[in-house]
Amino acid sequence: MTSNIKLTFLGTADQIPSANRNHSAILLNYNEENILIDCGEGTQRQFRKAKLNPYKTTRILITHWHGDHVLGLPGLLQTLAMSGYNKTLYIYGPKGTEFLMRGLLKLFNFKKKYEIKIKEVQGKFFETKDFYLEAKSMEHGIPCNAYFFEEKSKTRIDKKKLKKSGLPLGPLISKLKSGKNITYKNKKYLAKNLTYTDTGKKISIVLDTLLNKNITNFVKNSDVLICESSFSSDLEDKAKEHLHLTSKQAGEIAKKAKVKKLILTHLSQRYEKNPKKILNETKKIFKNSTLAKDLMVVEI
Ligand SMILES: [Zn+2]
Ligand SMILES: [Zn+2]
Repeated sequence: MTSNIKLTFLGTADQIPSANRNHSAILLNYNEENILIDCGEGTQRQFRKAKLNPYKTTRILITHWHGDHVLGLPGLLQTLAMSGYNKTLYIYGPKGTEFLMRGLLKLFNFKKKYEIKIKEVQGKFFETKDFYLEAKSMEHGIPCNAYFFEEKSKTRIDKKKLKKSGLPLGPLISKLKSGKNITYKNKKYLAKNLTYTDTGKKISIVLDTLLNKNITNFVKNSDVLICESSFSSDLEDKAKEHLHLTSKQAGEIAKKAKVKKLILTHLSQRYEKNPKKILNETKKIFKNSTLAKDLMVVEI
């Protein structure tokens, strides 16, 4: 599908940011939607560095309430208030998000200048005619969600075949497009012969979690899987202890789920000098893997 999904990695560090890696935040742009996934400390400045306008943010998806994923929220919300943000801002998160968000707004004495709608989500939670968003619980010691964005597939007319058929443009074509067979001058035309399916794209985001049985199914057939990889495979015990994934596990998930492309993020300072260690381990299992960098842009 000729879609315009643009991902900007605003922050790719784990708990401790470094000179090169900011706390977690990813912006997914699709038409008028600008969906921010997590908002670690410093996200506002990352917006500026990426030459993106934070006022265009439409929704914020919170994976979980560890500081490295949410410490940038109060600052961003305040900036939006001071800059005349006049839309409703939707904030989605796992169980507990409503209580924690209310606490955060109170703590920073947030003056209500625009509408903020907070929703604790699970399963499919938002849908338009073009796409939908889904959440799934992960295992990270506290409530934690993985998310995916999926564009809806569309039935399109095969223009070459249509021209050959000699059918006139107009309401009959709309009927074909909606999957109905038509009759024209006593001849029957089957929708399946004159149309094709334009498959929508799926982008999945799995940040902090212990390896669990839900992941593979949830991210199945993604065009892009963004997955945390906090530990190298030799530290699997440590990853388990801290409820995180290893490079090897991320690769295995991508392979089993038959995703097209894997992007690793949430990198530890431990690998600052040698991030290839993580990437090479993953690539042994899943070839089409890359390592996210701050301000990296991926168009799908
Ligand atoms: Zn984290
Ligand atoms: Zn965490």
